[in-house]
Amino acid sequence: MSFKALNICDSIVYTIDYWERNLTNVTPYCPVCGEVTEIRAAGSTVMKTHFFHSTQGTNCPSIIENHSKYALLTPTTLDTTNGNQLINWTKINIWHLYSKCKKILKNRLQFKEFSAMLEKAKENKIWYYKGLNTNTLPYVLIVNFGIFPKIEGRSEEVWYIFDKKMYGDNLFLQKKITHIWRVTKLDIERIELDYDTSDTGKHYAWINFQSFYK
Ligand SMILES: [Zn+2]
Repeated sequence: MSFKALNICDSIVYTIDYWERNLTNVTPYCPVCGEVTEIRAAGSTVMKTHFFHSTQGTNCPSIIENHSKYALLTPTTLDTTNGNQLINWTKINIWHLYSKCKKILKNRLQFKEFSAMLEKAKENKIWYYKGLNTNTLPYVLIVNFGIFPKIEGRSEEVWYIFDKKMYGDNLFLQKKITHIWRVTKLDIERIELDYDTSDTGKHYAWINFQSFYK
């Protein structure tokens, strides 16, 4: 159930209100999985009009029951050199990274939740994905965390995912990731990747720091 759909003729995502007014003869597609959707509950007084996946038993990641299949899994081959560099970079730039994650989460991220995100990244070894870099890191930490619960200032559960077509062994190698989706039970929102780490501390400074200050 969503209130937005993709028009494949112009590749633009429209709201249900706009669709009902201007696009009634156009087939709506789910922007996340690319499957056909249809308008449901039009004119209903008990339920808001929404887009509904036409395929029975859809495995779209925008549906909460399917979410865990699309959280990141442990990479099959580990790039330990790159992973250790990312970890050292994080040690130096932890506040910068936290601030970006908080911004992606609409300024609702407690530091203890951020800490839990780092813990989960360790459990799943996601630091060691081949091709993962600092610009992509906050989004990956957030997708990997799973469902962020309702807390003070966050009125509903929210989770973040990549496009369904992006998932695969070489997630960070072959395809350029341009966006992720912010999903709640009632809405989806596209978030462009715009994290710039060019002015942050360099990973090798941590190694130097350790050797100087033993
Ligand atoms: Zn879908």
